[in-house]
Amino acid sequence: MNPWIPKALVLAGTVVMIAIRAPHGHRSRIVKVATSYKTPLETGLLLLAWIGFFVPLIWVASPVFAFAEYPLSTTSLGAGVTCLVAGLWLFYRSHADLGKNWSITLEVREQHRLITQGVYRRIRHPMYLALALYSVGQALVIPNLVAGPANLIAFAILLAFRVRAEERMMVAEFGDEYAAYSVRTKRLIPGVW
Ligand code: SAH
Repeated sequence: MNPWIPKALVLAGTVVMIAIRAPHGHRSRIVKVATSYKTPLETGLLLLAWIGFFVPLIWVASPVFAFAEYPLSTTSLGAGVTCLVAGLWLFYRSHADLGKNWSITLEVREQHRLITQGVYRRIRHPMYLALALYSVGQALVIPNLVAGPANLIAFAILLAFRVRAEERMMVAEFGDEYAAYSVRTKRLIPGVW
């Protein structure tokens, strides 16, 4: 298979992801933060997520990970593209539904509203599900033992620490409203967990 096919997919996915996130990143600098729950652990996790994000791009641009290359099957490519597309769609929808309540880290903004509709109707963390799908997609599409799972490993670690802390923050801010929302929803997978 032409080695540029997975590289082009990784680049295209990254461009779409940045295009979805950019307007929200810009707005989040304008809407004031009311309370920050950011800890040193959270800073470390964000750094790890950035590393996971950049390693696949280093793989696209340079031969440093050439020692870890393996042949890519059409099945893996097909499954990977499906996960990438589903992940990007959900990434787009969750940003649209969260609107100005979005933050890259654990913080609550002025006039923060609890969103329980759209893709937030059945699960509490659709954006994290989107990122999980996207990183599984990368692991399937990138035929390299270092660059393929980089994003997935970094994101799994972030998720393991973030979800609990974020839910504690949401309970502290929204009290019974978030508790009731938690009762009727799951975290990541509708009807399961
Ligand atoms: N965990 C969510 C949101 C990720 S963005 C998801 O995966 O879709 C992280 C920020 O979003 C948090 O710091 C919090 O301020 C905000 N947030 C999380 N859930 C929210 C909700 N249901 N309504 C409003 N804001 C929310």
